Amino acid sequence: MIGQNDMDANSQMKDLSVVADFHGHLCAGLAFTYRIVRAALRELEISDDPGKRLIAVVETADACGIDTLQIVAGCTMGRGNLNVHDYGKHAYTLIDKTTGKAVRIVRRKDWDIDKIDPIAARLRGPVFAGTATADERSLFDLRMENAASVILSMPEESLFTIHSFSTKVPKKTKVFAQVECIRCSEMVAENRTVHVNGQPYCIPCSRKL
Ligand SMILES: [Zn+2]
Ligand SMILES: [Zn+2]
Repeated sequence: MIGQNDMDANSQMKDLSVVADFHGHLCAGLAFTYRIVRAALRELEISDDPGKRLIAVVETADACGIDTLQIVAGCTMGRGNLNVHDYGKHAYTLIDKTTGKAVRIVRRKDWDIDKIDPIAARLRGPVFAGTATADERSLFDLRMENAASVILSMPEESLFTIHSFSTKVPKKTKVFAQVECIRCSEMVAENRTVHVNGQPYCIPCSRKL
């Protein structure tokens, strides 16, 4: 469904509604990351089954758009090709592990969702604080859907910058060996143990020492 250059607004919205079903609502964050994924797939020349080739690194844990990555780019927690770092940055790196080609896409400094819709901007505070009335809430949802379609039609340059580079992708080897944590006695993957005085601890226990 991705990869054609001339995808019309309707089919983009259709893609996005699949993501919205998974995510629970349609919002600006989903649309923004949808644009990021489309740009990445174009730059990396990937058309079908992107999840087979892609590794994603997201530098914020606080983003609706992570769900777009999972559905549209096929980078999911379960597949092990989605890495989320809680750095609080709207930066998304997508790496084609078959070629080593990669893009890091960063939201523009001057990006401001509230400029798109001053009404939504006014409602955002009360909605997120949980003090909005039911009417205000549904108006906010409606405005967010509108913002999503505006984002789909905006020029890429006004949304983010794209930095292309090449990288070496280390072969991922699954480690199945399990060892027992000396403190809680639970089994833990060997490559996730922390050794203190030569004894293996799980990560949570190692933090309590
Ligand atoms: Zn959302
Ligand atoms: Zn433990």
